[in-house]
Amino acid sequence: MGPGLCQDGGGGRSLLSRALGHSPGLIRIAAGITRRLLDITLTPCCTACGQLLSGVPESGLSLCDACVTTVQRISHPLCPVCGNPCQAAGPHDVTCGDCSRSPPHFHRARASFAYAGAMVRLVMQLKYARHFDQAPPLGRIMGAVAAVEELDDVDLIVPVPLAVPRFVRRGYNQAALLGRATASILGRPMKAGILRRVRDLGPQGRHGPRERAARVRGCFSVIDEGMVQNRRVLLVDDVLTTGATASECARVLTRAGAVRVDVMACARAIRDSG
Ligand SMILES: [Zn+2]
Ligand SMILES: [Zn+2]
Repeated sequence: MGPGLCQDGGGGRSLLSRALGHSPGLIRIAAGITRRLLDITLTPCCTACGQLLSGVPESGLSLCDACVTTVQRISHPLCPVCGNPCQAAGPHDVTCGDCSRSPPHFHRARASFAYAGAMVRLVMQLKYARHFDQAPPLGRIMGAVAAVEELDDVDLIVPVPLAVPRFVRRGYNQAALLGRATASILGRPMKAGILRRVRDLGPQGRHGPRERAARVRGCFSVIDEGMVQNRRVLLVDDVLTTGATASECARVLTRAGAVRVDVMACARAIRDSG
């Protein structure tokens, strides 16, 4: 056995040798298993599929080569308001039917990635499995996209809040983790305590866009109106689905005196342009 491994400091007998009855063969096998377990624990794994990685990729996102190929960046042409891609409309940005019929309360929304492929698993791991290490690289990419899309001329960054019981259960707000990294790239302050979610609707999976917009109304309030009056706000969230939540946050922030609310999300659901 190597020096320092499981030594108890009392007469040179190791804990392993006592446990295994001095059998050198068993001790060697047990030591090998221990080393292997430590290697597995300390080696980075793909956050999406669990495969061992040879090292942490330069992007900082813990994804294997196969999973990286399923990640889609959002690119133009897109709706200049909600940021939904609109390739079918030609090479230029065109306001989508939804934004034309019912303009959201935010000024513009953008997302770094399509909410598809390995990005779904990555966001879920960040959201529910405490993979905090993925928030800084995702937030840095969000900051870079926000700068390219000229969403960086803001006074404040505000994460979409969780309802208090959910925050207490989970112990953290993934939007705030992303917002902190985005704020550091943009060199703008993040204020997490400005917005409060006063009602929690739970999963919205079965509800369509109109129903979501109606259900989310009245779910948020501004705690400190003085902090948002005459300010330009960048609202940050992990996933933009229909945009109803972001629009409702923008509505209450604007009503409290914000002069403009833009939205930056890590990922967005891609819908057919209509
Ligand atoms: Zn993978
Ligand atoms: Zn749109």
